[in-house]
Amino acid sequence: MLAPEPMEHNLDPLVHAAEAAVPAALAELCAYLRVPAISCDPAHADDVRALAAKVAADLRTLGFEDAEARELDGALPCVTASWIRRPGAPTVLVYGHLDLQPTKGETWTSPPHAPEVRDGRLYARGAADDMGGWVSHLAAIRVWLAETGSLPCNLRLVIEGEEEIGSPNLERYIDAFPECFAADAMVLTDCENPSPEIPGLTVSLRGLLELTLRCSALEADIHSGLWGGMVPDVSLALMRLVSRLIDEDGRVRAPRSVVPEAWRQAAWDVPLGNEVIAAGAHLRPDVDPLPHRGAPPAEHLWRQPAVTVVATTLPTRDMKKNALRRSAEAVLSVRVAPGMADADLKAAFEAELRRDPPAGVHVELQWSALPSGAWLYQPRGPAFEAVDRAYTRAWGRPPLRVGIGGSIPFVALFGRRFGDLPLILNGVIDPQTTAHGPDESLHLDVFRKAVVANVCLYAELADVLQG
Ligand SMILES: [Zn+2]
Repeated sequence: MLAPEPMEHNLDPLVHAAEAAVPAALAELCAYLRVPAISCDPAHADDVRALAAKVAADLRTLGFEDAEARELDGALPCVTASWIRRPGAPTVLVYGHLDLQPTKGETWTSPPHAPEVRDGRLYARGAADDMGGWVSHLAAIRVWLAETGSLPCNLRLVIEGEEEIGSPNLERYIDAFPECFAADAMVLTDCENPSPEIPGLTVSLRGLLELTLRCSALEADIHSGLWGGMVPDVSLALMRLVSRLIDEDGRVRAPRSVVPEAWRQAAWDVPLGNEVIAAGAHLRPDVDPLPHRGAPPAEHLWRQPAVTVVATTLPTRDMKKNALRRSAEAVLSVRVAPGMADADLKAAFEAELRRDPPAGVHVELQWSALPSGAWLYQPRGPAFEAVDRAYTRAWGRPPLRVGIGGSIPFVALFGRRFGDLPLILNGVIDPQTTAHGPDESLHLDVFRKAVVANVCLYAELADVLQG
């Protein structure tokens, strides 16, 4: 076989074409955003299907002849498509999702499924999470095909319809259609940039476990006047137990994660000052963020565990009575630090919660069955040098290596199934996006830079990866 024809990548005309292609790409994005493809609501299942069918049809028109909205039993559709016409060249897979979070109970300035531009931002549910992400790739593909009649590498697209409900069937899709996921590098485009000026490359996620903690002491509720001070109050015991996990600042006491000193020093450059935290976290003006105690805020947010009480059976106002209760339960959401083994964190918590029960109450613990999905990645090698070059061209600087405090099931899954490939996690979300909230929006210049970066990224990856 002949060696593949090396491509000369003069990217200048392509970058100009990418800039010119942005208005049409935004129009395409707006058409998709008008479909309320809300995956958690069965009433919108047909909207998810209709959008998937529309995207597949548009991809066939674009030149992805095999584009298809695939649908496994009991699942919402997943669009797959490939352009494999450059023998010997590497194959890059782009992942995005087309489903949306619901908007019920939210107050929007303009209707969530009627996209509207105001002050340099496009407002609509899904504008940045995640339709803007993968539409920026469709735009880049269109630019390459229009300008050169070809792509510099082979490309696959996977546009999922169930990300917002935790990707419950994505692994089934991987197993049923492995050829649709065969690639030399993956671009997972559903993540955040630290600011509209600083692009982000996500390299870690905290995992999520759930712990149910139950204290019981009595066979029945009893009069607190007759018996208070003589037998245990399970509500107080529960609060004392939970507070054992937390230090005076309000953070998890142990286990703490050991973070490399070089990482810690670099993390001071992450733009997460008190003002950014206060605005992002909706802090009251008279309340400060937790003290950083010599560690950068990014470490507390991305690289250390956290605990939140997400439910309790403590007495509520409408159930108020002068009684000692039989039992009390709390559900804790536990964020697992990347690099920390779930089993180590569980063992540390259990040791703390089982020793010497407060007031001698009976203590039961139950962990969620699923692994936490914490993820820590080392972005090394030529693929990431290619990423840095592409981003420098589009943004004027390489992407900052960032983490996410939350967990993203599909990332943990790709990490488990394809962890030996370069996994490039980027996106078009910025701190003002309010993904999953009211007035979700996409910064238009971030979108423009994403289109340009993608155009350059395909060429840069084609140069450094082996097909
Ligand atoms: Zn998303």
